[in-house]
Amino acid sequence: MTEAKTSPGLDFVRATVAKDNETGKWDNRVVTRFPPEPNGYLHIGHAKSIALNFGIAQENGGVCHLRFDDTNPIKEEQEYIESIKRDVSWLGYDWGEREYFASDYFDQLYAWAVKLIKADKAFVCQLDNEQMRLYRGTLTEPGRNSPWRRRPAEENLELFERMKNGEFEEGSHTLRAKIDMAHPNLNMRDPVMYRILKAHHHRTGDKWCVYPMYDFAHGQSDSIERVTHSICTLEFEDHRPLYDWYLDQLDVYHPRQIEFARLNLTFTILSKRRLIELVKEGFVDGWDDPRMPTISGMRRRGYPPEAIRAFCRRIGVSKTESTVDIALLEHHVREHLNRCAQRRYAVLDPLKVVIENYPEDKVEQLECINNPEAPNGGRRKVDFCREIYIERDDFMEDPPRKFFRLAPGREVRLRYAYFITCNEVIRDPDSGEIVELRCSYDPQTRGGDAPDGRRVKGTIHWVSARHSLPATIRLYDRLFTCEYPGDVGEDGDWKDNFNHGSLSVLSESRVEPSLAEFKPGETVQFERKGYFRLDEDSSEGFLVFNRTVGLRDSWARMIQQQKKNNR
Ligand code: ATP
Ligand code: MG
Repeated sequence: MTEAKTSPGLDFVRATVAKDNETGKWDNRVVTRFPPEPNGYLHIGHAKSIALNFGIAQENGGVCHLRFDDTNPIKEEQEYIESIKRDVSWLGYDWGEREYFASDYFDQLYAWAVKLIKADKAFVCQLDNEQMRLYRGTLTEPGRNSPWRRRPAEENLELFERMKNGEFEEGSHTLRAKIDMAHPNLNMRDPVMYRILKAHHHRTGDKWCVYPMYDFAHGQSDSIERVTHSICTLEFEDHRPLYDWYLDQLDVYHPRQIEFARLNLTFTILSKRRLIELVKEGFVDGWDDPRMPTISGMRRRGYPPEAIRAFCRRIGVSKTESTVDIALLEHHVREHLNRCAQRRYAVLDPLKVVIENYPEDKVEQLECINNPEAPNGGRRKVDFCREIYIERDDFMEDPPRKFFRLAPGREVRLRYAYFITCNEVIRDPDSGEIVELRCSYDPQTRGGDAPDGRRVKGTIHWVSARHSLPATIRLYDRLFTCEYPGDVGEDGDWKDNFNHGSLSVLSESRVEPSLAEFKPGETVQFERKGYFRLDEDSSEGFLVFNRTVGLRDSWARMIQQQKKNNR
């Protein structure tokens, strides 16, 4: 038995690496890479791949390269490169000097293509796209050889050179590998290696009129960088024979490709192609809209990188596709913030309370605990006075039996402050809306306890009307209305599942004054309301918070329920 097999903690990718280390297959080197195509922003699925590739390198004293797979000049932009670097760093991973671009290998790739032509392993084909499709055959029928397949090497060399020099129109010629048109794997039926694209490339400019296909670039880039384990998602499993074929024919250093199942999340779409549509068509407010499943969206929403890493560890790596409950991701976010975030008071939807027997000018400073979960979280003073705000939904004029908060004639505790009793409800004479409550307080209950041992059933939070600051608060719901968005059949449009009610903005909220000291990017727990991150849209005197997650942890509840059921 190998070490890998006896270590139950290792997933199959890590087990493979461990086994290779044991046999000395790669001279004990471990080199992985994360190879994004810079055609959009990274999403939480990429985080899984990043955590896996960088994680394996770290655990084995190896290195992980960041390689931009920039072989398609049409969809790629510098903005995406910058965002990818920012996101990988923010997640806590460091590629050091090892920042590479597939485009840096264009000369070498071209030379390799020439080598294959000379060895009669590649040819220039003049079938157009549609013809090529017809010649390819199907899963059940073999394809047919291209009429150009038997061109002599000399002629292929000349034509390929002329393709490179821009002498032909796009789509008129391709360079194809000469493998087997009857191969059961369609990827092996004389795949295209190069196509003509007269496009400007963000790094190589107008130097090239031909660009390599992903399959011809990827394995060779891995080879040039002497990658040991080329870890990718399952959809590339069918490409592995081609990956291996190119490297074998070229007789160069040959890494090992390993495929794992990509991450899918409920209520979420993880595809750059689709996320781009949401951005470009204005469904969301940019790539970093806090509702987006992008890394930048999650950062702006207030997800800590530690929580994303913990989530990636928790979901593990396997060979079977599955969909992870988004509540599990939120569970990790909550778990981290519960330990780290300071607690403060905010009233999201304020209702004014006047404490009639409290002196007009009096202000008391009451002591509150910053975070009971953090041993050194400290304490702070909060101002209390005659006029305060409470949450509108902490009051009911005609409460049902199980409502224990404020109601006419009822006494509740104001957290860290006093017991108050509601005496009168004031309404707007025109609209009939409740605009104010008249209450009285019991001076004996300072700090929130009655000396006579009298109990109240409800405890609510509050802020001082005079001292609190105005704030705008953005609340988020799921971005899609169903668990498996996009699962809409032939005629359906995945965008029909978009949740148009996913953003609500509360612009009348009040927060305690200490929030003025927070900086954009900091996250806080508003007691009873959830975790919130101060947004970059804030300015002095204008605070904007994004709700990261609510407090209720449906995942933790589910685990508890399961335990109960098992008993
Ligand atoms: P998308 O389908 O969103 O466009 P992609 O696979 O085209 O994603 P790339 O930039 O090519 O995006 O991906 C870089 C790396 O991230 C690849 O190795 C890819 O396999 C991996 N990756 C992409 N999506 C996921 C996912 N949902 N789960 C795990 N890994 C992923
Ligand atoms: Mg891709």
